[in-house]
Amino acid sequence: MQFFFGTAQHIVPGPTIPLDCPNCRHSGPASTWDREEALTVFFVIPVIHNSTSWVRCSHCHHEILSSLKAAQLAGKTPAEVIGHLIIGPTPWQRRMAVLAVLLFWLPFLGIVISVLAYALNSRDKGWRLPVSLMAALASPVATLVWVVYLGWLG
Ligand SMILES: [Zn+2]
Repeated sequence: MQFFFGTAQHIVPGPTIPLDCPNCRHSGPASTWDREEALTVFFVIPVIHNSTSWVRCSHCHHEILSSLKAAQLAGKTPAEVIGHLIIGPTPWQRRMAVLAVLLFWLPFLGIVISVLAYALNSRDKGWRLPVSLMAALASPVATLVWVVYLGWLG
């Protein structure tokens, strides 16, 4: 397959802009760029094309997705820039979603973990939201099963 399909990546540097970093709260310059990715056939014929724009804080090197092209961010104030940034999931959102899936079956603790995961991911657009929602719905059932089961033992 790799003989026929490949990916091509093209980076187009953008302007340096002022940024109030949402990650480290540092105010300073940030570099921007557009990243164009293409899935290619026979290395040259692009079949799927995807273009994203990025901002990187010069202080913490955090990379943030931008809804505007890098060139369009030029001349914007830090407050305007923030409005165009798409803040991705934090490591804790990811960790909690994974924990919820692994541990939702624990009596009581499973409810706490999966409800927390759901709360953290309630505005997520990726896999974390449906996953943590399912865990949050399944965990009270699991706890109920445990209570009934332990009731029988007692
Ligand atoms: Zn930063």
